[in-house]
Amino acid sequence: MSLIVQKFGGTSVADLERIRNVAERVAKTFDQGNNVVVVLSAMAGITDGLIDMANQVAVSPDKRELDVLLATGEQTTAALLAMTLQSMNYPAKSILGYQAEIITNRNYGSARILEIGADRIKKLIEKHNIVVMAGFQGCDAEGNITTLGRGGSDTSAVAIAAALNADKCEIFTDVDGIYTADPNICEKARKLSVISYDEMLEMSGLGAKVLQIRSVEFAKKYNVSVHVRSSFSEEEGTMVVNEDSDMERLVVSGVTLNKDAARITLKKVPDQPGVAAKIFSPIADEKILVDMIIQNTRAEGLTDLTFTVSKKDFIKALEIEKQVAQQIGAEKVFGDENIAKVSVTGVGMRSHSGVASKVFSTLAGENINILMISTSEIRISCIIEEKYGELAVRVLHKAFGLDKVGK
Ligand code: ADP
Ligand code: ASP
Ligand code: MG
Repeated sequence: MSLIVQKFGGTSVADLERIRNVAERVAKTFDQGNNVVVVLSAMAGITDGLIDMANQVAVSPDKRELDVLLATGEQTTAALLAMTLQSMNYPAKSILGYQAEIITNRNYGSARILEIGADRIKKLIEKHNIVVMAGFQGCDAEGNITTLGRGGSDTSAVAIAAALNADKCEIFTDVDGIYTADPNICEKARKLSVISYDEMLEMSGLGAKVLQIRSVEFAKKYNVSVHVRSSFSEEEGTMVVNEDSDMERLVVSGVTLNKDAARITLKKVPDQPGVAAKIFSPIADEKILVDMIIQNTRAEGLTDLTFTVSKKDFIKALEIEKQVAQQIGAEKVFGDENIAKVSVTGVGMRSHSGVASKVFSTLAGENINILMISTSEIRISCIIEEKYGELAVRVLHKAFGLDKVGK
């Protein structure tokens, strides 16, 4: 008997009819003689709505209480699916994050899973129940409710699949697999039948929200093969697996866009030891993540320094740097929220040259100005004006021969 973890995202459980559709799909898997653990997201839009409400009652809502609030979205769908399954005469039981002993650190809003005590779920499975677990949530060692960051139900699913040593982990979503680019932006994007953990890690880290990056980290660490597929069709989706020697190695296998970027520049910073630490320590103290950093040397012992953060951290980071600029004697600080990061990724890049120059000339061909550049062994990213983001994805997709033929 196989154990299958099936995760359904927000659009797949957006209303009662869709929850019924999910129940039928789960029931079918169960009827085929499998044990099933279902992991659910909140209904589409609910998490955003809860965040809005919190922002209406408090200027800066308490992070602990915000997680208590956000966890209700997944609690609702888990109970509704369990009831729907029961009404169809299936033995279903819902379980919340803390009941499933998903133990995390106390980093409210983006907690990391530390361990999973899967015993309770195992007992429910032994009694032949379909277990319906609320995704996105856990609790810290003291029992405070935590959430795993936006898109975190993917991570709940892969982590529980690893903890239970499941035979399969299926991620059901509103697209029928992982594409060479977001199919909602680039209609010529091609569906991949397989993708390696490393490529998916890059794509998720660069804004392809089809899988939360931490779910891919878990999958890679515990060797969970993840099948990303559509909730609305039976079609095979994309397998996320270990890179193996027969895998097709495209030089570039994906193009991603992340609009969640803002940049801050400090002009004429004294070029002395310790200055970068003074600029970035207060940012780190606020737990703000910095993505790209560039520093240009100017004449007369002065330098310009630019870095990017997520849009939600922009105002805070700008405030901090205005104070830092005064302390270190920088001339001025300015910011820009209208930027986006476009990236090309591919394991084949390790052994090919000329990828960067092709990216630059393709963007130049559309008169798109490159504001910042960063690279890794298998990625090239450019910061550009946000308004050109989608166009940049399409032209790069074409330039690297990824467009599907026909249509
Ligand atoms: P769910 O609610 O099921 O978790 P998400 O909205 O989080 O779904 O993720 C699915 C979305 O990811 C798709 O609708 C698509 O717009 C987006 N996406 C971004 N990049 C890609 C890609 N390379 N392949 C497939 N989908 C992608
Ligand atoms: N409901 C959460 C979100 O909207 C978690 C998830 O859907 O994976 O981010
Ligand atoms: Mg998601």
